[in-house]
Amino acid sequence: MIKFKSGFVTILGFPNVGKSTLMNSMLGERLSIVTPKPQTTRKRILGILTESNFQIIFSDTPGYILKPTYLLQKKMNQTIMKSLEDADILLMMTQPDDDFFPPELMEKIQSLTLPKFVVLNKIDLLKPEQTSLIRNKWTTKLPEAFFYAISALHGTGLLELKNAIVEHLPEHPPYYADDVLSDRYIREFVAEFIREQIFLLYKQEIPYHSEVVIEEFKEDLPIPHIRAIIYVSRESIKKIIIGEGGKSIKELGIRSRKRIEEFLNHQIYLELHVKVMEWRNNDKKLKQLGY
Ligand code: GDP
Ligand code: MG
Repeated sequence: MIKFKSGFVTILGFPNVGKSTLMNSMLGERLSIVTPKPQTTRKRILGILTESNFQIIFSDTPGYILKPTYLLQKKMNQTIMKSLEDADILLMMTQPDDDFFPPELMEKIQSLTLPKFVVLNKIDLLKPEQTSLIRNKWTTKLPEAFFYAISALHGTGLLELKNAIVEHLPEHPPYYADDVLSDRYIREFVAEFIREQIFLLYKQEIPYHSEVVIEEFKEDLPIPHIRAIIYVSRESIKKIIIGEGGKSIKELGIRSRKRIEEFLNHQIYLELHVKVMEWRNNDKKLKQLGY
């Protein structure tokens, strides 16, 4: 009899290497938000892939920040360290010009006894010789790790990687029912999708000063009603989010609504409000926000 396999696979890497893209491609769902800007992902999000004989529980983590400056960034790095604790398999993601992880993280990784994969992403941007150079560099540094070269965006090498992960999963009954896709509530996804649109719409530091909370989600209406609060750390940022005559926030509302409707597969009504609150450096506020 074939035994069922199930386990936790932590995806680790610097910001912007494509961790969320990889998890989404594996799941076939735009679950974790992706933007061209670094530090889009702030919380760990599980993505659960169940097939007839295995269940992979991916853990998408924030990117490792070399020099955290505000409290949120410090907490993001702590999230990464925590995600290493309960991992059955570690996927260390890297991209063409990335260096090794810093010594404190490399030492931690080296002390862990679990299957380790180095996953070079974005090989669509590389020549085969360059891929081999990076492979040599990593296998010299971490001889126990398996090396895979992929393009999370284009799907290259993903089947091979998935098969290798399954091969190294422990024998274990499924942790989650087979129709569960994530550990997060719908309203958390809705907040994430609005945050994603903020990252895509506003320039420079604006997205990094913004956080989204769903204050109300009335589901029992023909068209569900969602009221979201965008918290920003300064009055000047509130002005930019709103824009002249409300032009920018209107655009944000339209884009966010589309993104949410696409995910939920039905129409919604979305109301956005902006409030000023210094949240990034305030431990209590961060805790309330789930960090
Ligand atoms: P994360 O911060 O590690 O979660 O990275 P994201 O998944 O948010 O991706 C960051 C950026 O890299 C986005 O603009 C992605 O479209 C892009 N990206 C992800 N995978 C690939 C890939 O295989 N090739 C290329 N060229 N870009 C990619
Ligand atoms: Mg991400």
